[in-house]
Amino acid sequence: MAGQGLFEFADIPEWERAAREDIQVAEVVFSLPLEQSYTYRIPDEFRDRLQPGVRVRVPLGRGSRSVVGYCVDVRQSRNPNRRLKPVQEILDPAPLLSETMLQLTRWIGVRYLCSWGQVLESVVPAGVRRRAGTRLIQGFALTDDADGRLAELKLPPRQQAVVDVLRGCQEPLPAAEICERAGCGPGPINGLRRKGLLRVERVRSELQGQLSEPVDREPDLEMNPRQRDCLNEICRAMESGQHQTFLLHGVTGSGKTEVYIRAIREAVRYGRQAIVLVPEISLTPQTIRRFRSRFRSVAVLHSHMSDAERHWQWQQIASGEIEVVVGARSAVFAPTPRPGLIVIDEEHEPSFKQDSTPRYHAREVARERCRMEGIPLVLGSATPTLESWHRARQQQDVLLSMPERVSGLPLPPVVVVDIRNDPYIGRGLSIGRALQQAIHRALDEGGQVILFLNLRGYAPTVWCRQCGTGVKCPDCDLTLTWHRDRQQALCHGCDYTISAPRQCPECGCPNIRYFGTGTQKLEEQVRDLFPQAPVLRMDSDSMRRPGSHDEALERFRSGKIRILLGTQMIAKGLDFPNVTLVGVVDADSMLQQPDMRAAERTFQLISQVAGRTGRSRKGGRVIVQTTCPDDASIVHAARHDYVGFAGHELRERHDLQAPPYSHVTRVVFRGPHEQAVAETARETAQRLRQAAAADSRIRILGAAPAPIARLRSRFRYHLQISAPDVESVRKIWLEVAADLQMPDHVELAVDVDPVSSR
Ligand code: ADP
Ligand code: ZN
Repeated sequence: MAGQGLFEFADIPEWERAAREDIQVAEVVFSLPLEQSYTYRIPDEFRDRLQPGVRVRVPLGRGSRSVVGYCVDVRQSRNPNRRLKPVQEILDPAPLLSETMLQLTRWIGVRYLCSWGQVLESVVPAGVRRRAGTRLIQGFALTDDADGRLAELKLPPRQQAVVDVLRGCQEPLPAAEICERAGCGPGPINGLRRKGLLRVERVRSELQGQLSEPVDREPDLEMNPRQRDCLNEICRAMESGQHQTFLLHGVTGSGKTEVYIRAIREAVRYGRQAIVLVPEISLTPQTIRRFRSRFRSVAVLHSHMSDAERHWQWQQIASGEIEVVVGARSAVFAPTPRPGLIVIDEEHEPSFKQDSTPRYHAREVARERCRMEGIPLVLGSATPTLESWHRARQQQDVLLSMPERVSGLPLPPVVVVDIRNDPYIGRGLSIGRALQQAIHRALDEGGQVILFLNLRGYAPTVWCRQCGTGVKCPDCDLTLTWHRDRQQALCHGCDYTISAPRQCPECGCPNIRYFGTGTQKLEEQVRDLFPQAPVLRMDSDSMRRPGSHDEALERFRSGKIRILLGTQMIAKGLDFPNVTLVGVVDADSMLQQPDMRAAERTFQLISQVAGRTGRSRKGGRVIVQTTCPDDASIVHAARHDYVGFAGHELRERHDLQAPPYSHVTRVVFRGPHEQAVAETARETAQRLRQAAAADSRIRILGAAPAPIARLRSRFRYHLQISAPDVESVRKIWLEVAADLQMPDHVELAVDVDPVSSR
């Protein structure tokens, strides 16, 4: 660089000198709630080295604190503002995201009302940013000329041991491994390095296991006519190069997964990659095995990976080596270079919505990504969300139906049992007469039983007889749940734990009672009632250990366990032919949630749980215990009538102008001082009402205390904006948010299209 100035005017042609008077500038965004991007000068030393998608260090704000941001654009500026601050450092050797992914993240920021930088920070895994597993570890190997020289050298025994270890290796080894194998410390390695016998290379510190473990390949199945029709439609869309979203509505066991697999096979044939999103709890070894037995290279992305593993997977995917990426929500950002298809299985699962900033829904992000790429999106479910069903009915998306099981077996009969006058329930048991009899019969006939209860712990309420109140968490507006196995009362909002309260913390009265039934109490009752039958409980408390889930299912599959009981965890995907009875212990607990989607969720859960039986010639049946036997969600679920349920529920939503007939954005205010939170929320609601006054289609609800009015010591208030289209909501919110004065200690969270209203 130093000598360059000497030649400048002599050697550089006129036109190029003029061009050099332009400077390069970079647009940079930050992982902060800042709307706009900032422009920086690219100093000559970085000229032509900075690309969009790379992180940079730049000065920001008054004190010119140096911060890390994402470069999102690089351009020439003819009349640059001479006072532009310079880019100080380039942090990544290559872009972390492709141009398409940059555009996608920008779209997310706009759609979900957060900053582009916040989206980028969340989309690029921490392990990828840090290049986890690539930098830290040095590996050692013998130099090429080592053999010749070693013949002439007499090495000390420990150095010789190291040489012996390395002779047997193809790959460079990390020091720790050499030491272990040679039974020495680092000294001999350093000794050999000084003699010039070792070369140093970088090696990854960790390798991921799942890819390398071999799986038997299985051939494709002969598709039935229904499957073939669905597949043909998807393939036709793929060939057209136009985006199309398909809603594949198929009952459990109708062969949806086979359709995904065959559609992916087509994508792969065209040299493209596919992404399959499944709910985190369906990302079981069985699911992964199913894909790995059918494709050459499958990458798995899930939340329990180490940073190094994730980075390794990310690189493999970006290289185009991977045919199929299977993962939970965030796999929608998998950096496949040429995606050919995205599939979302169980698209109705609420876990596809992220519950921290950016609060995106993977289905909507996938839709946009597929639109940008001109490829199909396939949404599969036995019980689609009303949003997706509505779109399909409006012919915005294409509906594909598979109403029958592959096996030709009917869906199991569902019996709804009204437990209002049941003698056993009256005595405090959670299994009523009809369900008890059915369990006895199923066991007598050699079948297995699944009991579903969506509440973990022993008893959901710890109650004081004297003052008649539930014992609450000191930090949350939630009553504690009694976990008898640990002898502790637990807050499910914040994990606050106390040992068994012997007396009421309010009035000191010793008359503490436990009310309601969680899975632990159910387990106890089941063991009492059916002492001969081995029982297994599956919930997030009993399945803490990695691998315990798979192990438990294996014990059930083998028949050692006769009764499996648990929460949502057992509602999904299990396929056991010997299950002849499924009991839904308490349908009301889902139905009575203070949530617009309570009926929809109840219908979905009953349908899903029911799908766990009747999978073989042995048949099977379902018993649903409820005190609301006439509720539409229960009546329709008992008839396996999704279309009827959707029609009913859509009419109700239409009357209320609720989603899918409107878009809702929820704003939650929280902070340690109730008054400040309440005032800010009310003031904001007031301003929103003023701003929306001209447009009668926009409605503002609240502000009011949120259903959980306090969580982790912070008071919570919320308000809702709703309008027929998402753009109106955004416009109103941005208008008001622009000059919103937030007091210290009040935070705000904006949730576009919320799936929870807690
Ligand atoms: P879904 O995803 O709709 O629940 P699956 O694709 O898992 O359904 O199929 C259910 C069962 O039927 C699986 O055991 C699968 O192997 C089998 N199956 C699917 N399609 C076929 C087919 N065309 N021929 C034979 N068996 C099939
Ligand atoms: Zn709490």
